[in-house]
Amino acid sequence: MDAVSVPWKLRSPWSEAKTLAILRDLRERTRAGLVSQRAILSVPVPECSTSNHPADRDEIVGKSLAASLIECHSNRLTQIEAAIKAVRDGTYGLCQECGGVIGFERIEALPYAQYCVSCQRERERRR
Ligand SMILES: [Zn+2]
Repeated sequence: MDAVSVPWKLRSPWSEAKTLAILRDLRERTRAGLVSQRAILSVPVPECSTSNHPADRDEIVGKSLAASLIECHSNRLTQIEAAIKAVRDGTYGLCQECGGVIGFERIEALPYAQYCVSCQRERERRR
């Protein structure tokens, strides 16, 4: 399907401006999440990691959680950036794999979705 021939109203349940506003808001919130998770990581680790002190253990658990959240948030940030670029390029709402319309339901749940449901499933299966 030719991306340019798909009218905007079939790509997103919101207007182009509203879609951009939603994506920018998500980007801000994801960035804020990254900043707070990085702040947790920047607290020095206790010298002795084998400490039995419950507070130290909690801190170590908290740090590994923060590290995985940082990874998750940075991946999401990359996807949001790509979606914002796609709005400008006129490819937003179209699957990057098959070029089909991603669908309002999926866009509403995941405004930075890059693949339609079936292509996403296919990608997860291959992983
Ligand atoms: Zn697809």
